[in-house]
Amino acid sequence: MPPTEKSESVIAWLPDLLYTGGRFESGRALICNAAGQILKVAGVAELRGEKRIRLAKRAMLPGMVNAHSHAFQRVLRGRTEYRTADKDSFWTWREMMYSAATRLTPEDVYDASRMAFLEMALHGITAVGEFHYLHHGPDGEAYDDPNLLSKEVARAAGDVGLRIALLRVAYARAGFQTEPNPKQARFIERDSQTYLRNLERLIGDVRGRALPHGRASDTAWVGLAPHSVRAVPLDYLREVITHARQHDLRVHMHVAEQPAEVSACVEEHGRTPVALLETEGLLSERFTAVHAIHVTPKAIPAFARSGAMVCACPTTERNLGDGVVPADEYLKHDVPVCLGTDSHAQIDLLEDARELEYHLRLQKLERAVLSVRSPTVGKGSPPAHALPNGRASDTAAVLFDCATINGARSIGAPGGTLEPGQAADFFTVDLDDPSIAGASPGDLLASIVFSLSRAAVREVVVGGRPVVSEGQHLIQEEVVERFNELQKRLWG
Ligand SMILES: [Zn+2]
Repeated sequence: MPPTEKSESVIAWLPDLLYTGGRFESGRALICNAAGQILKVAGVAELRGEKRIRLAKRAMLPGMVNAHSHAFQRVLRGRTEYRTADKDSFWTWREMMYSAATRLTPEDVYDASRMAFLEMALHGITAVGEFHYLHHGPDGEAYDDPNLLSKEVARAAGDVGLRIALLRVAYARAGFQTEPNPKQARFIERDSQTYLRNLERLIGDVRGRALPHGRASDTAWVGLAPHSVRAVPLDYLREVITHARQHDLRVHMHVAEQPAEVSACVEEHGRTPVALLETEGLLSERFTAVHAIHVTPKAIPAFARSGAMVCACPTTERNLGDGVVPADEYLKHDVPVCLGTDSHAQIDLLEDARELEYHLRLQKLERAVLSVRSPTVGKGSPPAHALPNGRASDTAAVLFDCATINGARSIGAPGGTLEPGQAADFFTVDLDDPSIAGASPGDLLASIVFSLSRAAVREVVVGGRPVVSEGQHLIQEEVVERFNELQKRLWG
């Protein structure tokens, strides 16, 4: 049962339409307590003495969860769209990314992260999984606090108002039988003991933060992120994943993003990355494989058997020429797929959602490829496709689940649905915005998923606290100004 509350501390948010139980409903209010938790979704006639906030001409949806981000890479936007070699690729892009990564001060990491998180908030994202691999100074020298840069990223998320899973990266080497790359010096922790010691220290420091609203553990928390089978040798990988199991921490890992990574893994271990992870018992329901593009048909049931998830990052994957995530196969096997904006070539999680579908349409010369039942996550999840009037847009519901429920499970965030007991994390869209005008309640989700303009996002609320109002973030001007200065300094 939801806790009882004094009515004056309870807020009733009243949009025209509210997305709950897999459908838009009118005449409903979202009732939240002072701690930012949803008490109930009630009919307007049931309201008593709650403080009412009317959101006219708005539809309210659960906040989106961005499960894979490298926030500092926001500085690269627009700087890599040219050819550097005979054939440009992920690997030539990576060299350009390293040249930026080696030049950022701790304050620059904060400013770049704040810019990325601000843009996420303006798009209706309320929680982020930050796959953070910058640990040391530019020369590879450890800072006095080995988590200085992780904390700068967490501070940026806190100042913007997003929840953050700090997925602290383990990175040991350039690759199997590969010479060390000096540009990776900021990432490297050669042994698992050093990595785990620094991870535990970060967990303690993050837990100890005092926050004015909500429980600290729901605002920022820590997970593990062995970078890839390329960057982490098997013994090291076993030790960090054992640690995650013992302490019930989420594990994220880049898996099979590029064919070269797969062939190097076969050369070193005699198995593909997914086969290696499965035969070593490293997959679990806490595990999210980021990308998982270049996989064999056998790999997909392996994820299903273990309960592992996949995080697709379609806008980055198309930008880097990575390939297409076989999301139809994952969904057929009940492997939940979540979404990330990854390199931030573009920050718009709904664009990632629609590209997940559109890439498959181009590949298969078909439409509505992902119109299959989405695996629901956890007990009490809504029936994903109970859309009114028998409308045929279950594709939109599948994709929106990827951007919300599945993302929340992947990074261990509260939220993902507007239901009693959940965090009051939501965004609203202007029903008169030209990009969605004319939609009926039955068409609205498809209009939002396939067509919403960023300008239609009006309010964003995290834990009951407004972060964006009337399409503007409170500290927007300062964040943009500081970021402009940083870009001038970095690129001239
Ligand atoms: Zn990544």
